[in-house]
Amino acid sequence: MSGNLQFSIRTRCDICHSAGRVWLVKTGRELTRCPSCGFAWVAAGLMRTSSGLSIYEDSTRALFEDFADYYRDASADDAAVTKLNWVGEFAQEGRLLDVGANYGHFISHAVDRFDAIGMEPSPQAVDWARTNLRAPIQRGYIGDDRGDFAGRFDVITMFDVIEHLEGPLVALQQCRRFLAPHGRLFITTPDAGSLVARLLGRSWYHYDLEQHISIFSVANLERLLEACGFTVIQKRTFARRYRFSYIDRRLRDLSRESMLFRTAHAVAFPLRLFPQRRIAINLHDVIGLVARLREE
Ligand SMILES: [Zn+2]
Repeated sequence: MSGNLQFSIRTRCDICHSAGRVWLVKTGRELTRCPSCGFAWVAAGLMRTSSGLSIYEDSTRALFEDFADYYRDASADDAAVTKLNWVGEFAQEGRLLDVGANYGHFISHAVDRFDAIGMEPSPQAVDWARTNLRAPIQRGYIGDDRGDFAGRFDVITMFDVIEHLEGPLVALQQCRRFLAPHGRLFITTPDAGSLVARLLGRSWYHYDLEQHISIFSVANLERLLEACGFTVIQKRTFARRYRFSYIDRRLRDLSRESMLFRTAHAVAFPLRLFPQRRIAINLHDVIGLVARLREE
């Protein structure tokens, strides 16, 4: 199953079609930003290996291994339960599709309440989820031609996924196709329009251009959803619990880029004394949107 979200180099904004300008160059990659709506994208798209596989598909590069204390931690379970309770505010039963299911923590909880399946391009993540969580996950991309999914789902979730896609427009069009008429779409993603993002500017940690290649704000994501036939019915932010070890490593990595993070890493020595501790943080720079299909 190959990803079929293939795009040529994009110079125009997917949302408002203005000509973008290169705004940030980092790790050899360029982030192009729309001067009109603020949507930002890495025109080169997904990082690919010499064989053409995306970094998510390539089994020789264990992308998530370095972040086991984030992706495979008890805090990933906490986050999954928080998300499931959020979904439960809008839908209590039916068919659920989790797009970009990662290691399957969310889907492993969602099966308690929904007829749920996950889609995930990474073969290692799929294997891990099936083996360790018995999570019903299939390998695949949201862009795959899945006629059997048309109009099928009462709930579609895309948690921290859309920023990894080179075709967010196509992804939302697919969500529209896959949702039942009364269905609900749940999206979480970093918010470049948030106060923290604006204060940190180009040093904002979500400008990780190897992975985050489509960067939204609440306003431009809502605009894209509307263009794809959705109406946004809720906007919120999320707290997440993080291991000290994870925060410490993120600060250390960021300290290579700016004095601000160098200082933060230096004063944050308690993180290194208690690496297993966890803390809940909400910087209000990750948004959650709920959308329904617009009635024509
Ligand atoms: Zn734009």
